Amino acid sequence: MKKEAKETQVVHGIHTGDTNTLDLVAPIHMTSAFEFKNAAHGAGLFSGKDDGYIYTRISNPTVSMFQAKMAILEGGEDAIATSSGMSAIASIALSLAKPGDNFVSCATVYGGTYALFTENLKALQIEARLISPALSDSKKAIESLVDKKTRFLYMETPANPTLDVIDIEMWAGIARKHLIPLVVDNTFATAYLQNPLLIGADVVVHSATKYISGHADTIGGVIVGKKKMMDRIRAEYIHHFGPTMSPFNAWLFLRGIKTLAVRMERHCLNAMRVAEWLNSHPKVTKVYYPGLPSHPGHSIAKKQMKCFGGMIAFEVSGGIKAGQAVMDNVHICRLAVSLGDCDTLIQHPASMTHSTYTKEDRTAAGIPDGLIRISVGIEHADDIIKDLENSFSFIA
Ligand SMILES: *Cc1c(COP(=O)(O)O)cnc(C)c1O
Repeated sequence: MKKEAKETQVVHGIHTGDTNTLDLVAPIHMTSAFEFKNAAHGAGLFSGKDDGYIYTRISNPTVSMFQAKMAILEGGEDAIATSSGMSAIASIALSLAKPGDNFVSCATVYGGTYALFTENLKALQIEARLISPALSDSKKAIESLVDKKTRFLYMETPANPTLDVIDIEMWAGIARKHLIPLVVDNTFATAYLQNPLLIGADVVVHSATKYISGHADTIGGVIVGKKKMMDRIRAEYIHHFGPTMSPFNAWLFLRGIKTLAVRMERHCLNAMRVAEWLNSHPKVTKVYYPGLPSHPGHSIAKKQMKCFGGMIAFEVSGGIKAGQAVMDNVHICRLAVSLGDCDTLIQHPASMTHSTYTKEDRTAAGIPDGLIRISVGIEHADDIIKDLENSFSFIA
């Protein structure tokens, strides 16, 4: 049977359960535990001989439906839903590397990921070998960091907050050669615009909090990959550390994801218009958007993404002072972190999402202090542009 298009998969793509009530959409199974028919049934479930539900930290029907949907959308065999994007990233990193091991990651990543890599994993003697944005397209530079103790490669593309685009196929080639997995944070692109697993990556992680929810109302994460690896991560980490997604949150994500395709289409259209407008504004010194032909990652983005996404960063003349004037005078754009919501959100990475980096490390990761990041929403593009235009008049 021909596989359905993404637009159809986000709406359908899973059976909503086999309950006698024939629910049209996934019901919320708010229960901590599931009753056993008898002692033998309970023992059979625990031994793995029988399939079924035991306890919601281990599995839950609503959460399973969300996992199945994400696996389908990413083209993976299986998925694990987690309490947040950070718990998804921490679970995969801890399951792949042990004290004494290392991994190679792009230096430009989400601020929380950076702190996890350079503080928490470091304290566990797991070394993050960071590759600067200038060298992230150099096979030689990446391979020079790989040794016998390297357990995985890690990237975000497009990267938070500078929208660096990394060549997934190229990095996957290196990972294959060294027999280690490539992990890709696909939060910015979403499963609608980019499917790393289909072009050689082994694991995809998401902050589902962002575009997958799309409505700024909940926190969650997901890991997608081969069933064997997911089974192992579940058994060794998820069950013991307990970063489980609540059935209620899974239900919110299942609800949000139905509109992923239409939302992403609008995010992309709006972002392109805002980026072009910013690019032609005399007070803007630099625009970071993969959709602009002047962006260094434009051709790779074209190769691996369906469209260029809803995230833009820019710098204004006058540096951070001028940027603050912009942020303090917007009305349609809302001053908040997070991203991927229906509302346009604006924030300052150096003092907000990426304040986990030292100033030096930020410079090394190519994140200027004056950088402003916008998550372009699904309002009318004219209104977003008018709002920015007005705020730019407050630049001294
Ligand atoms: C927000 C974000 C995360 C962390 O996700 P949470 O759901 O906030 O824990 C990880 N990666 C990227 C790219 C993000 O934007």
